[in-house]
Amino acid sequence: MDYYGSHINRLIEELQGLPGIGAKTAQRLAFHIINMPKEQVRSMADAMVDAREHANYCRECFTLTDEELCPICQSQRRDHRQIMVVENPRDLAAYERTGRYEGVYHVLHGAISPMLGIGPNDIKLKELMQRLQGPDGQPGCDEVIIATNASLEGETTAMYILKLIRTLGLDIKVTRIASGVPVGGDIENTDEVTLERALLGRTEM
Ligand code: ZN
Repeated sequence: MDYYGSHINRLIEELQGLPGIGAKTAQRLAFHIINMPKEQVRSMADAMVDAREHANYCRECFTLTDEELCPICQSQRRDHRQIMVVENPRDLAAYERTGRYEGVYHVLHGAISPMLGIGPNDIKLKELMQRLQGPDGQPGCDEVIIATNASLEGETTAMYILKLIRTLGLDIKVTRIASGVPVGGDIENTDEVTLERALLGRTEM
């Protein structure tokens, strides 16, 4: 593809490195960017660098945020005694879109997968347990809603969390969202009505 010259090629290659972007889309985006006003391109590039530089994990729930505590953890209107455990920030966003969940979250950043070599120590499980144990020996919440995906990895992770909570002898209600989420389906791609139904129909584990 060196008929474009090295600067344009570099842009195409960088774009192609993004998830879901193939060679054709990368070219189309590159040409779109090249035709944009220079100021707009600069502003877009700045937004990327800024977001990357300021992004970190919330120290309470580990979702992505640019503050020490994310807006949900900061909010007094949320029920901090109810913690929903999700696999990633996109699942959190999906539940927020339903507008019906009033508790807080814990983001694991993955799920246990022996196949992919992802063990309990590779996700934010230790952090969840610390949170559940609370600083004064009292349970850190009243209910843990496990909203991992309905995949083998998600189910394995759910069972593992339940086992940990019971092993620690914590007096916490553990629920699992109902199977409104299709088996093998991703939460982030599930519509709001189904997610809301899955939340309301959760059962104790
Ligand atoms: Zn948070």
